[in-house]
Order: sequence, then C-alpha cells, then structure tokens
Amino acid sequence: MTSLTKEQTIIRDAARWAAFLCLAVRHEMLDQLHSMEKAGREPVTIADYGSQALVLQAIAKYFPNDGSIAEERAGEFDKLASDAQRHKVTHYVGETLKRNVSLDDVRCWLDWGRDRLGERIWVVDPIDGTKGFLRGDQFAVAVALIIDGQPVLGALACPLLPIDPAQPDGERGVLALAQRGHGATIEALHGGLSRSLCVSSQSDASQARMLESVESGHTDHDFSAQLLAAIGGGGQPVRMDSQAKYAALADGRAEVYLRQSPGEGYTEKVWDHAAGALIVEEAGGQVTDLDGRPLDFSHGARLAANRGILATNGLVHDALLESVRQVV
Ligand code: AMP
Ligand code: MG
Repeated sequence: MTSLTKEQTIIRDAARWAAFLCLAVRHEMLDQLHSMEKAGREPVTIADYGSQALVLQAIAKYFPNDGSIAEERAGEFDKLASDAQRHKVTHYVGETLKRNVSLDDVRCWLDWGRDRLGERIWVVDPIDGTKGFLRGDQFAVAVALIIDGQPVLGALACPLLPIDPAQPDGERGVLALAQRGHGATIEALHGGLSRSLCVSSQSDASQARMLESVESGHTDHDFSAQLLAAIGGGGQPVRMDSQAKYAALADGRAEVYLRQSPGEGYTEKVWDHAAGALIVEEAGGQVTDLDGRPLDFSHGARLAANRGILATNGLVHDALLESVRQVV
C-alpha cells in the first residue's frame, strides 16, 4: 500500500479537533442543548453538525478529490436547525479553526464529497452516540478512510473514556488510531501518553466481559443476556454508548462487543463501525457479523451484506459464534 503519512496526520488532527468542539459545546451549553429530531427519530445537535463540518473541511482542504460518507446532511441542517442554532454551529467551527467562517462554508463542508464515491472514501460519524452525549455519557468522533471497500485508517476520539482503565475516576479522553497492517495505538486526547493497543489475552469464553449499547432500541439486551448465559458467563453485559466500546475492547478492557438490532430488517451504518472495527482488528481482535461473515464496507452507507456485529479479542470468537447459533 502507498504511504498514508499525510492521511494519518489529517485524520488524527481532525478527530481530535472535532472532539474538542464537542467538548466545548458540552461544557458551555449542555444544560440548554436542545436536540433536533432527524428522520428515524434519532437526535442530532449543533455539536454533530459542527464536528462534521470541521472534519470535512480538513478533507476538502487536503484531499479535495476524495469522496465521503458522513452521517449528517446540509439539507437536514437547513430544515431542522433554527437561525440561532445555525449561528452557533458557525461560531463553534470558526472558534475551533481560529478564523472567520460563514454559514455557506459550513453548509458546503457538511456535504463535501458526498456525491464523489470513488475508490477513496472518508467515513465520518461526527458524534457517535448522540444519545449518550445528551445524557452526559460516552460518545465518540469516528473517522475512517476506506480504500477500495476496505477501511485502511481509523480514528476514534472518545473524550470521556478514562485513559487508564485501572483508574476509572482518573483523567479522561483518549484518541485511538489504527492503520491496516501497522497496528493500533491509543493516546491521551489532550496530548501526552501514547501506547500500543492490544486486546485481552482471556481465552476462556465463560470469563468474557461483554459490552453492549445502552439503548434498547439499538441492540437487543435480552439477546446479549441469553448469549452470556449460553457461554456460561456470570454477570451482566456492561452498557456503553458509541464506538467507545470498540476502543475499550481494543484496549483489553472487555472481550466481547455484541450488537443485534431489535429493529426489523435494520442494517448497520458504515460510520458506526468502520473506524472501530479496524482499531479492534489492528489491536489483535476479530470483527464479523453474527453469522461469522467479515464486515463488507463496499455497499455505500449500509453494511447491507451483514447482520449484526460480533467483535471480540479473537480468542473467544468461535465460542461466541457457536453460542449465537445455539441461542438463535
Ligand atoms: P450506540 O451508542 O452503540 O447505541 O450506537 C449509536 C448508533 O446506533 C447511532 O449512531 C445510530 O446510527 C445507531 N442506530 C440507530 N438506530 C438503530 C437501530 N434501530 N439498531 C441499531 N443501531 C441503531
Ligand atoms: Mg453513530
């Protein structure tokens, strides 16, 4: 593969600055943060729009010919946001970039590359886990570069994930990064520490710690509980919003991340998995769907050829797949 040094720098900086924007919004106005409701009844906030505009302005600047698949849309922004909210988004993007930014700039960046679906595609989830963000819980900024249908770079900024798992009440904010074939790292979001990411060495499935979504509308909690019982595990799955689950798994803080949507016929969105799946694989783990198929990122915005998600440390993967078959 060609060197992706410049892409690595951009993805790292973009995810970091977008996370700072989200933290600034959270800090300054979480109490008065009114979410807007998108199609599908999912919430969206001014931070989602600001974060996406910021990431895609970097792509527009450095890789103007690349395509993008990003969660938010300028058309929806026009429709859902009030004048005051649009002004706020423009303000936060300008503050972060430290220059004057117009509403037209923001609108242009929000849709940058959307119609250019060639061999290089940047996948952006500006706030993954918006419901978590609104509750004051975990959220993530997720950016991935897909080349020829395969994620090759991934960045996950998780502003509220503890840096040291042994100190859950200690300093928070991590940035997990991966390049295909080059491993994965984790660093403090605010700078400093950087170390390799490595999944847990637990090979006994009955001891596996499981992660699942907080939202019962996003994953079937009963199914996870049945699966945990089927592998002989005690305890309960740990609930966490966003792709912070992938970062925690990649860092050996759990062995399994399971996702089965309760939504009839729901297919997962690529921006919810591209960055996280690559980070887990590069940390030594394994990611498939619930039938054991590799995730297929070549179908546009949806994982249309997959059903659910099973991400593990690799060592317990086959045991979990077998249990999925039993429980189903
Ligand atoms: P999580 O924080 O793990 O609950 O995941 C958040 C993501 O769930 C959002 O970014 C949505 O794209 C996604 N989502 C929305 N509706 C559903 C659904 N019915 N089933 C599974 N995932 C969903
Ligand atoms: Mg998401």
